[in-house]
Amino acid sequence: MANIAKRASSALEESQPVWEYADAIESTEIVKLEDRYGLFIGGELVEPKSGRWFETINPATEETLAEVAEAGPEDVDLAVRAARTASTKWRKLPGSERAKYLYRIARQIQERAREFAVLETMDGGKPIKESRDVDVPLAAAHFFYYAGWADKLEYAFPNRGPRPIGVAGQVIPWNFPLLMAAWKLAPALATGNTVVLKPAETTPLTALLLSQVIREAELPPGVVNVVTGAGPTGAALVEHDDIDKIAFTGSTEVGKVIRRTIAGTGKRLTLELGGKAANIAFEDAPLDQAVEGIINGIFFNQGHVCCAGSRLLVQEPVFEPLLEKLKDRLQTLRVGNPLDKNTDVGAINSRAQLEKIQELVASGVDEGGEMYQPECVLPERGFWFRPTLFTKVSQSHRIAREEIFGPVLSILTFRTPAEAVEKANNTPYGLSAGIWTEKGSRILWMAERMKAGVVWANTFNRFDPTSPFGGYKESGFGREGGLQGLEPYLDLDPNGSS
Ligand code: NDP
Repeated sequence: MANIAKRASSALEESQPVWEYADAIESTEIVKLEDRYGLFIGGELVEPKSGRWFETINPATEETLAEVAEAGPEDVDLAVRAARTASTKWRKLPGSERAKYLYRIARQIQERAREFAVLETMDGGKPIKESRDVDVPLAAAHFFYYAGWADKLEYAFPNRGPRPIGVAGQVIPWNFPLLMAAWKLAPALATGNTVVLKPAETTPLTALLLSQVIREAELPPGVVNVVTGAGPTGAALVEHDDIDKIAFTGSTEVGKVIRRTIAGTGKRLTLELGGKAANIAFEDAPLDQAVEGIINGIFFNQGHVCCAGSRLLVQEPVFEPLLEKLKDRLQTLRVGNPLDKNTDVGAINSRAQLEKIQELVASGVDEGGEMYQPECVLPERGFWFRPTLFTKVSQSHRIAREEIFGPVLSILTFRTPAEAVEKANNTPYGLSAGIWTEKGSRILWMAERMKAGVVWANTFNRFDPTSPFGGYKESGFGREGGLQGLEPYLDLDPNGSS
């Protein structure tokens, strides 16, 4: 049947013209870039005491977008002091007053949504349709959602006297720069904490645009401070004596360093780290729907997603048809200019990340995996990687064990549900999982046995501010989102009821 369909389509191709999408490039005019961006400390953009600056580039073109201040320990200290000073008044403000600021920020993100989306795509390389339809609306939704909690903390934690912790140091990665800033800032501010935020080196611009919005929302100076820089800036923040809590999203490797650094200091910690999620397709799965979910699960944001469904486990009877459908679908993915509204897969975030993906993919080939990549022309400049599938993968292969954080799917098979559980949980990570089956009872049976913080059923990569997110094992601890996302920012009486 599949062969007949194929012959029919090639006969059709010979007689029909090939239809191509016309370019639909989003204009960048809405973005007004400065030549240089200082640090956002005490409500002002200030020059760094370190005297150092670094360039941030567009990974799709390798063009420099702007110079950004590199905060040294002295700058981090100033930011922490500003946050501490601001904390005295901010923590005493009635929740309903704090909420007003959060609502203002949320509305401003909505009003400036296009500007945020274009800038996010320029600085990070993700397709404009993703920054426009996912990152920016979700960032606004987080501020709206936590604004709603600000005056209801007593109801969220009854009889437990919720009190802000104080000053939070927040370190975020480059895969969802604005969204991660929102995940971190919104619950911290709603609960009465002040913040020093450290965006990733390769994607600082939307956090800096957000600091402009924060200033325009007239948030009291020092409540939010943004210190740009690379790893050492993050380390200086983590090591600062006057920080009460660290919230980190990034690699497991750095997460471990941070945990060791703050052990015994009394600082509170939440870690959202890597993942190697299993996306499990049973023989009774709606295959076409599953194909869309699998593609979205691994190629959304070029696979730069901690909860990406990077290991596909397929029940043996449907392995061949599912693989064929996946290959067909891969051929239709449009890779290229992230500012084109038709683009499905954009640029890899940095040269370093591209090299990491290339190295892991080479190991997959060396270890005996069979690689499939669609034919597609990649732009000459910038950092690109073709959507990639691997079959003949065994559980011991590096591509089945390590987080690639790129558009690379490793496909394995299983026979029984018990084997699927065993293989899915055979990973040091435990962030997310996906289950594709027609049977509700099987979904529940599987979900109970998955050691993963989030389990999606017949869908993947669904996010909502009301829903907690976080991991087990080397994927970290603590939850962000939902009512649970408030708790890491509060001191609570241990003996009250909730
Ligand atoms: P990192 O963990 O290095 O980066 C995350 C954030 O931590 C960045 O802001 C980074 O700064 C900062 N940072 C780096 N070193 C330190 C330190 N010692 N103390 C405090 N903060 C620090 O991730 P990478 O960018 O290096 O990516 C490497 C791998 O991590 C990826 O290939 C991927 O596998 C994984 N990763 C997972 C993410 C997730 O969401 N779970 C997100 C990002 C990466 P800067 O970037 O400026 O160096």
